Amino acid sequence: MKNIIGFLIISITLTVNIYAEKPVDDKVNFLPENNKAEYLFDRGLGYYNLNQYSNAIEFLKQALNIYINKNDKTNMARCYNNIGNIYNKLSIYNKAMEYHLLSLELEEELNEKEGIISSLNNIGNVLKNIEKFDQALEYYQKALNISYEIQDNKSIAITLNNIGNIYLSKENFNNALNFYSRSLIIKKELRDDFGIATSHNNIGISYQGLGSTAKALENYNISLDMMKKLNDGNGIASAYFHTGIIHYEKNDNKKASFNLEKALAYAQNYDNKQIMIPCYKILGEIYSKQRDYFKAFIAMKLYAQISDDMATVQTQKAVAELQIRYETEKKEKEIELLKTNASITDYQSKENEMFMIILVVVLIAVAVLGFFFYYQFRQKAHSNNTIEEQNVRLTEAYNKMEELAKTDILTGLSNRRDMYQRIKHETDRFERNEKPFTILMGDIDNFKKINDTYGHDAGDHVLTSIASLMTTFMRKQDIVGRWGGEEFLFLLPETDIDGGKKIAEKLRVKIKNESIQYKNHVLKVTITIGVSVYNRIHDVNESIKEADKAMYFGKIRNKNCVVTSDKI
Ligand code: GH3
Ligand code: MG
Ligand code: MG
Repeated sequence: MKNIIGFLIISITLTVNIYAEKPVDDKVNFLPENNKAEYLFDRGLGYYNLNQYSNAIEFLKQALNIYINKNDKTNMARCYNNIGNIYNKLSIYNKAMEYHLLSLELEEELNEKEGIISSLNNIGNVLKNIEKFDQALEYYQKALNISYEIQDNKSIAITLNNIGNIYLSKENFNNALNFYSRSLIIKKELRDDFGIATSHNNIGISYQGLGSTAKALENYNISLDMMKKLNDGNGIASAYFHTGIIHYEKNDNKKASFNLEKALAYAQNYDNKQIMIPCYKILGEIYSKQRDYFKAFIAMKLYAQISDDMATVQTQKAVAELQIRYETEKKEKEIELLKTNASITDYQSKENEMFMIILVVVLIAVAVLGFFFYYQFRQKAHSNNTIEEQNVRLTEAYNKMEELAKTDILTGLSNRRDMYQRIKHETDRFERNEKPFTILMGDIDNFKKINDTYGHDAGDHVLTSIASLMTTFMRKQDIVGRWGGEEFLFLLPETDIDGGKKIAEKLRVKIKNESIQYKNHVLKVTITIGVSVYNRIHDVNESIKEADKAMYFGKIRNKNCVVTSDKI
């Protein structure tokens, strides 16, 4: 039994060591006692800046211990504050809160106003992250009062901005606007250009929330100009992004894509995924609406890819979090163990207690491992889902591209390429059932005149109107496509030349009687149609040529008529 437990403990320790690779640093042992803490503190901050949070906490805590021993409260507060900020970044909010409260307590004891303000703001930030907005406001309000008391304009501006953030999260855009504007005034006094540009961006978001798009745009523009002067890529990306969103919401896809493409370019340079992800998604939607399926496909693919990358980053973050949690627990357990050892007098009870402790440790370790495997299992399930979603999106994109290759963009009818396929299909069918099919070649009369008189857009409008009239007119089995500019080809399966002629005549009359509304004009057009039949006597291309010839014959005659190939 004990061997099994021993084995379990070893294997658990091994597993943990893989994750808890501690920074090795012998240099610190040779430093004079006075410099040791400063050195450890600086290394902690260094790791913090490198986003290596576990190492950062390790060094800051070592520095903290030295400061605690020396009772150096100013530096203790600095350590508490930074450790709190790291825990906040790691989303370990209870720990973050604990350290910021410790920092606040010391700053109050020392009566360090600036330190108090910064602790209050940090506590507010943690509360904001756990969506306790009202409590966050209370802390920010205290910070603001003290900032006014000591006339510290920089703190006033920061705190006003923090309060604005809370109101923005609560979607109280009026109040957000009020606080951001007050912050802006002070930043202007301080000539804090970056702060000013950020405020304009935040003010823009508030106006956008209030539905005042013109004012929102004005502020984004100011922010954009300033961020460009400051050469701040993230600021530039943000201004372009929000401008793009406004245009997108107004359904102005052209301006939306212009701004979002700019935002994307800057965001890519700075690897700013928060902006890249929505940009790809919305651009994908816009390109798709514009029927540019190739670009839509690329954008959606990148969207899926980067969202996945983000999930991996989050996984890494979660693993780091798990590691820190485990280490904290381990230390607490070690302390417990030492305490228990010291209090044991009797050998027998010591052995029993040791056994109980080992059992508890094993149980906790099993629970931690269990959680870890469960977490990995969930992560796998998540990535499977993501791959599945990605596949669905890819299939959709491929289908759309496929459709595009067959469709005429303007009218939505089959294009010439697709019509050839369908003609081939009809000839194959003829081989099976020997039933002839008829070809109609229709060409709109004097179409050039419409373009010349009313403009090319009017011509386009006539083409789409005629195309949709043709689709509603034709029978279920018939097929129509756009053969060329203003030429349309009909395939009428299992129809002989007389039947074809009758249908062509009906179509001609229908088009002649149609009134097409374009702006203030009512446009009328006519069509000349040539009819031929396919019955294997000639090649099918020959039949198409015959329909074409018949149509030209009609053009020479008087236009607006139907001519069958047997009449020429
Ligand atoms: P006819 O009665 O002899 O057929 O004369 P027409 O003017 O219809 O024929 P023509 O071949 O002289 O001119 C056809 C015009 O159709 C010329 C071309 O610019 C225009 N056209 C072709 N495709 C499109 C299009 O997609 N949109 C618009 N608006 N015009 C087009
Ligand atoms: Mg024509
Ligand atoms: Mg023509």
